[in-house]
Amino acid sequence: MPIQELTDVGSMPRLGDVPARMHAQLIRPERYGDPLTAFAIETVSTPRPGPGQVLVHVMAAGVNYNNVWAALGRPVDVIAARRKAGEAEDFHIGGSDASGIVWAVGEGVDSVRIGDHVVAHCGVWDAADPWITDGGDPIVAPSAQIWGYETNWGSFAQYTLVQAHQLLPKSPRLSWAAAAASTLVGATAYRMLCSWDPHTVREHDVVLVWGGSGGLGSQAIQIARAKGAIPIAVTSGPERGQYCMDLGARGYIDRRDFSHWGVIPDWRDDAAFATWTAGARAFGKALWDVLGERRNPRIVFEHPGEDTIPTSIFVCDNGGMVVICAGTTGYHAAVDLRYLWMRQKRLQGSHFANDQECAAYNAMVASGEVDPCLSRTFAFNEVGLAHQLMRENKHPMGNMSVLVGARDAEQRD
Ligand code: NAP
Repeated sequence: MPIQELTDVGSMPRLGDVPARMHAQLIRPERYGDPLTAFAIETVSTPRPGPGQVLVHVMAAGVNYNNVWAALGRPVDVIAARRKAGEAEDFHIGGSDASGIVWAVGEGVDSVRIGDHVVAHCGVWDAADPWITDGGDPIVAPSAQIWGYETNWGSFAQYTLVQAHQLLPKSPRLSWAAAAASTLVGATAYRMLCSWDPHTVREHDVVLVWGGSGGLGSQAIQIARAKGAIPIAVTSGPERGQYCMDLGARGYIDRRDFSHWGVIPDWRDDAAFATWTAGARAFGKALWDVLGERRNPRIVFEHPGEDTIPTSIFVCDNGGMVVICAGTTGYHAAVDLRYLWMRQKRLQGSHFANDQECAAYNAMVASGEVDPCLSRTFAFNEVGLAHQLMRENKHPMGNMSVLVGARDAEQRD
């Protein structure tokens, strides 16, 4: 039987047959703006794996905040950045989480075989990068990028192109949709909590988790709990708070009870500074009330950024760490340096994860210690909608997936 030129989304050709063209959700510069209209389904040539690469038949794709940014075209215009670097495509196929089936392998790939059921993590890098060949952590390397955000050919398509080391075994316990939902946020949370020695999460540590019911937060709560720590969530509202407690948080703080958010006032403005300090103190007191004792968090799990970083630094314990991977509310991280040096606190940046951290997170998912927290599953034509809901903070708690090859949210193999 000849190989079909193009197949419908949801239908599967014979294992290993690669159609010449594929359906994909594309972002184009002329559509930059609201995710709802930035994405559109088009057909494009199916990419072919080069040396060290693998083509994966996508069964489901996870939804992440990074493709909200890609749709907006800011703070980085990812298409312009790639074209400047010499790539030809004038479109972006996003999607930084996938579950699927190994469909074709490039030269030199022996870690997976055609037919393997896999999930993909989103860290890519050049193995010949001197930083890496000198023994440096690959995710810190100058060549490190996020697949399906900084790179093209992500998972919002029938086929996705990955580097072989990105692939991890898919847990047979999980549906395709659940398996696709959480590796990006989960592995990011794992590195934030488990890799910044000596501030690795320990038994009895208090860990404050911003956005506890969100993608990152839902994973951070479970990882902290699995390591014996005491996670305390911050949320907007009791329904989200209860969700965090069901995941293992000791309790939650409703951030809507406070108003001292945003860039810290000038310390020379006594009145404004005193008002801010009173707000931050009240937040700290709310944390002690939830905890049931006067103990501060040894680790603060940060990502809102501008709105919350002053409070995070304030409530972090002496000698503790605020670890941050994003600035969803803005990048102006004004901090009162007195708290950093006098109380010897650490402000640590963290970005995604390396292969070992991804494998360690995947093992926690496979063992059932961590649930991917799949909430809603979207149809392939709803990629824009899922990102629009996320942009407006109206998306459901936990993590979302999009069905690509899988027929429904339950299908496992
Ligand atoms: P998410 O599912 O939308 O969760 C974020 C949570 O933040 C929301 O649920 C919301 O919870 C909370 N939030 C929103 N506005 C807030 C504010 N003004 N103050 C305090 N909390 C606020 O998103 P996510 O997947 O967790 O990602 C969060 C950020 O991390 C995004 O910017 C994403 O791009 C970034 N990220 C970075 C990496 C990396 O490797 N560097 C990896 C993953 C994600 P409440 O409204 O309930 O408080």
